[in-house]
Amino acid sequence: MDQTFERMESNVRSYSRNFPVSFVKGSNATLTDQEGNQYIDFFAGAGALNFGHNHPLIKEAILEYLQEDNILHALDMFTPAREQLLSTIENDLLKPRNLTYRVMSCGPTGTNAVEAALKLARKVKQRTNIIAFSGAFHGMSLGALAASSDSFSRHGAGVPLGNISFLPYFNAFPDPDLSLEYLESVLTDDHSGIDFPAAIILETVQAEGGINVAPVEWLQKLRAICDRYDILMIVDDIQVGVGRTGHFFSFERAGIVPDMVTLSKSISGLGLPLSLLLIKPEIDLFQPAEHNGTFRGNQLAFVGSKTAIQLYQKLDMDSIVQKKEALIKDFLETNIKPLHKDIDIRGIGMIWGIDTSKIDGSITKKLQQGCFKRNLVLEKAGRKDQVLKLMPPLLIPEETLMEGLNILKAVCEDVLADH
Ligand SMILES: *Cc1c(COP(=O)(O)O)cnc(C)c1O
Repeated sequence: MDQTFERMESNVRSYSRNFPVSFVKGSNATLTDQEGNQYIDFFAGAGALNFGHNHPLIKEAILEYLQEDNILHALDMFTPAREQLLSTIENDLLKPRNLTYRVMSCGPTGTNAVEAALKLARKVKQRTNIIAFSGAFHGMSLGALAASSDSFSRHGAGVPLGNISFLPYFNAFPDPDLSLEYLESVLTDDHSGIDFPAAIILETVQAEGGINVAPVEWLQKLRAICDRYDILMIVDDIQVGVGRTGHFFSFERAGIVPDMVTLSKSISGLGLPLSLLLIKPEIDLFQPAEHNGTFRGNQLAFVGSKTAIQLYQKLDMDSIVQKKEALIKDFLETNIKPLHKDIDIRGIGMIWGIDTSKIDGSITKKLQQGCFKRNLVLEKAGRKDQVLKLMPPLLIPEETLMEGLNILKAVCEDVLADH
């Protein structure tokens, strides 16, 4: 097996280097490899599997659709699957939350929704610059990469990445308000050197950036600044939307309404490619076909998405996540935090980080590898990969969640004993 991958596959492959087994089956939060070994999944496809692997109801809806020879490729032509997803978004998702958005289906992957959002913001406001934050991740295509802060990925572009200005995120200073004061000074000072922006793009919780949870008041003040200065607010909810934070949309906890919202990863329910841009109706200003694409309508993903959104409402997944949030937080604070005085635990809902950067930068990789040896899969995040990221599927059985946390505890005890 390894020989084929070594010989044939591009050097760019990444996750398989940390988890060098061949995964064959997935069921909720359990993975099975070719040898029959089982793993607990605290990675959830980087956030694409909030409903777990192969959720039976979502899978059934998709199988039925396939079985009946329903249309699979239709560009953005009318289909019942597209119509049903739109009406489910309207009635089950937006109306109960008092939100009004138009839906743009973008190319298949998250970065396509980000590209569309940046392009539309520039068109609407007739300004080229956009503000992004330190620690941000928005995707790998050139426009989205320009709004992503990681220098390693940026160097990969091979061309200058422009038309974005980075400002400090809330956690760049001891007092989060300082970042807003600086932002406001940039907007008002005609010698700030930063062109007045069309939009500000942000994650309310930076996931790749190291599990940085923006405070509610910070988000509210940022929204007020956008209003005051006529700047669009784009929330990138690709990773922490679809329930991850304890609400379907990550901005609900702050009671704010962004002008545009990007969704992808878990929005299709089963991990099929789908990416959507939610747009306030008054700024829905693309001309027909002005931003186009062949694969803007994976009908199977539409069916999965409709079923997943209905399931979300039916199960009241907000409360499921909030309940598990309490379990995870309590476990980490009781069992992991006391292991070292310089360990930092951060998170919300079902995304949590163990930050060991103040102890020794190499610890996180040892923790990840130690966990994998004991059949627990999780990923690293943050600056220099120094934050271990816990992101189990939202519907993980409580028993499996506790089993995974106990493996993590044992590995942390082992590794941190040497530090
Ligand atoms: C994953 C991610 C993206 C990019 O999505 P892709 O499907 O990888 O293109 C953009 N923004 C955020 C916040 C993400 O986590």
